[in-house]
Amino acid sequence: MTKTKSKDGTFTFQAEVARLLQLMVHSVYSERDVFLRELISNAADACDKLRYAAITKAELLKDDPGLRISIHGDPDAKTLTVADNGIGMGRAELIDNLGTVARSGTKAFLDKAEKQGDSPSLIGQFGVGFYSAFMIADRVEVVSRAAGSKQAHIWSSDGSGGFDVERAPKVRADEVARGTMVILHLKDDALEFLKEEELARIVRAYSDHVPFQIDLVTEKDGKEERRQLNSASALWTRPKSEIAPEQYNEFYHHTAGQFDEPALTIHYTAEGRNEYRVLLFIPSMRPFDLYDPARAGRVRLYVRRVFIADDANLLPSWLRFVRGVIDSEDMPLNISREMLQNNPIVAAIRKAVANRVLSELTKCADKEPDKFNTIWEAFGPVIKEGLYEDPERRDELFKAVRFKTTKSEDWRTLGDYVADLRENQTSIYYLNGESLDQLRASPQLEGFAARGIEVLLLSDPVDNFWVTTALGFDGKPFQSISQGEADLSAIAPLDEKAKPKEEDATDAAVAKVVGRLKTVLADAVSDVRVSKRLVDSPACLVAGAGGPDRGLDKLLEKQAAATGVSPVLEINAGHPLVLALKGGGKGSGAGKKKGSPDFDDLAWLLLDEARILDGLAPADPAKFSERVNRLVLSGLGGGRRKS
Ligand code: ADP
Repeated sequence: MTKTKSKDGTFTFQAEVARLLQLMVHSVYSERDVFLRELISNAADACDKLRYAAITKAELLKDDPGLRISIHGDPDAKTLTVADNGIGMGRAELIDNLGTVARSGTKAFLDKAEKQGDSPSLIGQFGVGFYSAFMIADRVEVVSRAAGSKQAHIWSSDGSGGFDVERAPKVRADEVARGTMVILHLKDDALEFLKEEELARIVRAYSDHVPFQIDLVTEKDGKEERRQLNSASALWTRPKSEIAPEQYNEFYHHTAGQFDEPALTIHYTAEGRNEYRVLLFIPSMRPFDLYDPARAGRVRLYVRRVFIADDANLLPSWLRFVRGVIDSEDMPLNISREMLQNNPIVAAIRKAVANRVLSELTKCADKEPDKFNTIWEAFGPVIKEGLYEDPERRDELFKAVRFKTTKSEDWRTLGDYVADLRENQTSIYYLNGESLDQLRASPQLEGFAARGIEVLLLSDPVDNFWVTTALGFDGKPFQSISQGEADLSAIAPLDEKAKPKEEDATDAAVAKVVGRLKTVLADAVSDVRVSKRLVDSPACLVAGAGGPDRGLDKLLEKQAAATGVSPVLEINAGHPLVLALKGGGKGSGAGKKKGSPDFDDLAWLLLDEARILDGLAPADPAKFSERVNRLVLSGLGGGRRKS
């Protein structure tokens, strides 16, 4: 974090903040209203935090127990003020919190947003927080007093590169007995945000169910008047039948800080041994930091309407994209965050809610496949982590998991796969690699295609892990087609002519070719054999039986954690290139016929071609290019002689 401090209390924004502000100031983001939602969200969080702190330190709340948020417009000064009497911030917190962005995914967001120019949907998707104030204000002041502190401080900035923090003089400090006051000096084109009705509309639209009272404060004849703008009910405590979809959406936006429409809303009350209410949302859009390893679930835990924590790991990590609230009736209020991990009620809730979310997901997969596909496209790779992290739920999860396969462009389930097994097919075949395009072009698929056998195409890194730990589905084991020998002889080819020439394996001339290839390529491959899976391509690489398959091996190689085991080269005994080898170009130049290709050249070319089809570079690119040149030239020479 780069915050350069100088003596007079002037600081420079962290580089990401400067970039974010640049984006805000110049954005023509059509939904400028969202600044208010963001400031109210922060204010509500501050009230939640104080209520929690007061559980153990009651005096923090004593002087002013009614937590609330106030909005006040001053047309003369052209300022709009959003104030709360929550936890407040000290000097260090003002500097840290309002000079940096701690959110993971920020860099990814900024890179994308800057590349696309003005990108409203991206801003909405990211949830820009406090800094969105600079969309409508050219100067922002924050006066804050941490609960229980004698000191108040003022943070101020015009958003152009830095900010000042100083002790608040008495007159200013007196305005904030506790909490935070954000004063926005409105830009000339943002004066509509002074209108009472406009403010009331925005609050109702975006923050109606924030569980604290939001008041519009006006002055009449020198007297302060307050008018409550929101219903301030904790939405999750209300019966489902009374809640409209827009209300759920509004609450989701507030509680998740994400601004897509939720794909699934799960709202119920659990009764019995433990009583708690659950209001959870499955977003429809993938957030920027989904794969960030530091990202934890953000379901908020409440105890009897009091916010306790948003990092209590209420769901397994493969459900970390779920947002919302769980409110327990029977947990002690004064439970410390440290104790949450070992609390038996939390453990029971964790288990039951994960089961419920999973059953809602499988129900959706079954009843509303299109909707489920949206969820799957956003979160499938994360849900699949559950297949190895949560073996107890694996069978249930298999009902929901979707795959791309060789059968069609559509998503397929394991149920679909098993229903379409070929006669005598006993395994579920898969191929893993980096991208669907590369997988679809893999020569390893040829023999399977010739027999009409469907192959799962696994292109997410997580696939390498679950597929090797899962025992199978419906009694059929998962089998990699890039590992071991593929024995497909029991399954009839769709077209007899396309059948790979297995009998060639016993041909003495072919055996000789295999022997010579082994000698030439000894350092690069662990074995050479005649393939049963190739139809059109001359060769492919597979992994030996046992150990990781080819897909995992390549992944490990990329992460410089190669297993050190060389792959097996399989050759297509019926391919012209292999037939040419059978004809016997002489090895290493000795006694070679003029113009006939060198055996060693062809051998290496066969290997390099297989590597390229595997998505890798040739083993030695310079030598590869030399060999290709030699072969092309000898081909050209031969051609000329003929004519
Ligand atoms: P986010 O809310 O996503 O963390 P923001 O940029 O909106 O990001 O705010 C940064 C941090 O500043 C908050 O996490 C909080 O710690 C602090 N903050 C902002 N507004 C307030 C407020 N009204 N009261 C107390 N702390 C606040």
